[in-house]
Amino acid sequence: MLHCSGTRTTQSYTFRRCKEDHLKRGWKDIGYHYYITRDGQVHEGRPLWQEGAHCKGHNKHSIGICYEGGLDALGNACDTRTKAQRESMRALLTRLHDQFPSTIIMGHRDLSPDLDGDGHVEPEEWLKFCPCFDALWDYGDLEPEGLLDWPSDSMEN
Ligand SMILES: [Zn+2]
Repeated sequence: MLHCSGTRTTQSYTFRRCKEDHLKRGWKDIGYHYYITRDGQVHEGRPLWQEGAHCKGHNKHSIGICYEGGLDALGNACDTRTKAQRESMRALLTRLHDQFPSTIIMGHRDLSPDLDGDGHVEPEEWLKFCPCFDALWDYGDLEPEGLLDWPSDSMEN
């Protein structure tokens, strides 16, 4: 499952910072299995055999991957992935897809309930934008076979 760190492009949010913030919450390690910084470097967080802490209710059966960013300079949700981040994200997902071919690649928001806005954008609402791009679309070619196929008669009904 893909996440963004929810930080602005003008702000550096390193692997170390992210890990420290998660440890401050009382967690035993960074919540993600992988963290991709703006320079494209893939930092290994929790080992895969260890349950992550990145999406309540789904940690037991998912791999958490986060990229640094997700907000533009003004704080708006935005696909801020750098070219280097896109390249290493794709390489990482290709490798994981080979290892776990039946695993669905999705964004955090694909699982969030669409909370209704009250006119204010609270930080916790960013969750529904996370990871700020369409993971199913971007990595459609790496999805399990058949996942994105429409029933053949769907156009006729
Ligand atoms: Zn997320």
